[in-house]
Amino acid sequence: MLPLPCNFAKCPGLFYGTSVGDGVLYRIRIPGGILTTKQFCVIAELADEFGTSGVHITNRANLQLRTVLTEIPSEIFLKLKEIGLASAIPEVDHLRNIMGSPTAGIDPYELIDTRSLISELDNYIGTHRELAPLSPKFSIAVDGGGAVSICDRSNDIIFNAVSIDTKIYFRLKLNMGESHFERFLDVGVLLEPEECLEVAIALMEVCLQYVGIKIEKIVSNRKSRKPRLFEVLDRVSVEKFVQEVECRLSFPLRRISPLQNLSPDRINPLLYQHIDVHPQRQQGLSYVGIAVPLGKLETWQMRSLADIAQKYGSDTLRLTPWQNLLISDIPQQYIHEVKSQIESIRLHWDATNIYSALVACVGNTGCASSATDTKGHALSLAKYLNERIALEQAVNIHFTGCQKSCAQHTKSDIALLGSIEENKRNIEGYRVFLGDGDDSKFGRELYNWISFTELPPLIERMLQVYIAKRTAPDESFRAFVNRYTIADLQALTSDQ
Ligand code: SF4
Repeated sequence: MLPLPCNFAKCPGLFYGTSVGDGVLYRIRIPGGILTTKQFCVIAELADEFGTSGVHITNRANLQLRTVLTEIPSEIFLKLKEIGLASAIPEVDHLRNIMGSPTAGIDPYELIDTRSLISELDNYIGTHRELAPLSPKFSIAVDGGGAVSICDRSNDIIFNAVSIDTKIYFRLKLNMGESHFERFLDVGVLLEPEECLEVAIALMEVCLQYVGIKIEKIVSNRKSRKPRLFEVLDRVSVEKFVQEVECRLSFPLRRISPLQNLSPDRINPLLYQHIDVHPQRQQGLSYVGIAVPLGKLETWQMRSLADIAQKYGSDTLRLTPWQNLLISDIPQQYIHEVKSQIESIRLHWDATNIYSALVACVGNTGCASSATDTKGHALSLAKYLNERIALEQAVNIHFTGCQKSCAQHTKSDIALLGSIEENKRNIEGYRVFLGDGDDSKFGRELYNWISFTELPPLIERMLQVYIAKRTAPDESFRAFVNRYTIADLQALTSDQ
């Protein structure tokens, strides 16, 4: 076994497992979420060998092996390095992988293919030992400006493509933390694509400077971890931070107004374009987005997916930060066959299937902070609803075991926050939130506690009322609930 960098042991990596409620957890970084069928099958073998029966796709488009009961020997890591699945330097493997849109290079609407920039950034991080002291949560995303946007995913630094007079630039955005009204702040800088790597390196170097300062000087109530970028920005101000970055560059930064809309012709990012069949920019080819219930794949499903990608696609699979995956480069004549093969391995390709927009954190089987069995409850609810309701638009249902909301950082259509009712013999239940609104980060509160047993019929009534009363078939569930007061929604969904 390789030596563990013990100061990072709370965040999982590949070279060092993290002990969680249901066993040891290993995380394999997949830069941009794209991997070959060969790599996918090697991970399936690993899962079988170490008795985990499957893998989990994470909300950073990584793969996790959970419930590992024996140590993974160092020869395995060497094998993974050989096929490009492990950092050259173990000390930096704990850093977050670079997130990209899962449709990079195939999206007809994207402004720029981001795959080469993602690969350069990943190579740089994976080969620079001095980056090891960065917070394990330090994270970068590169968004090519297409239909499947990742700009709202939780990342410290976002490079977001825009077009000006047919020329492509990246806007630079920094994560200011959940408490800020504008969480991802546009810092008013435009970068040419070839400038992004140098800027990312300078951003990491400036961050490292502050990581060297004792944590208690930056975050008064925490003494045991590295400061996050937003905590540094809170202390030193964005302007000063960006100036320090600029001092390290070989070129001056190109300033613009952060408010200036530079891509008026860009389509709005579409919801759930990562699920179902969509034409690619490559004539005659399509990708199929596959809903993986709560991101969990059995190893036999992994091998079947690899077979489908080999036979009909281009030998690659693309993981998404919505814990799903897609297979690209499928000629039109095989789409029907691919869909039926996906169904035959108990997965789904239809965005309106409840599983497509269902999210849950690990829950009380794997996390001590969780009040409820979120994953188990989410799967039972999805089964119940799929047997009773046919949707025409996806509805995002998010189960979270505590306020931290690890699985989804954005608002949901329906958010369910685990809570135990002690007066009722520790029955597991949920606070129920709907749509937007300022009540809390989860939306407007509909009920402050409902037992899990009562939950499926309640959600079924909500969806039936939505289908019956929406203004038009294209009105989303979110828009529908936002039109009503909480009292009206309670009256509409009451079982009396
Ligand atoms: S949201 Fe809370 S309960 Fe769920 S995994 Fe994160 S810390 Fe644990």
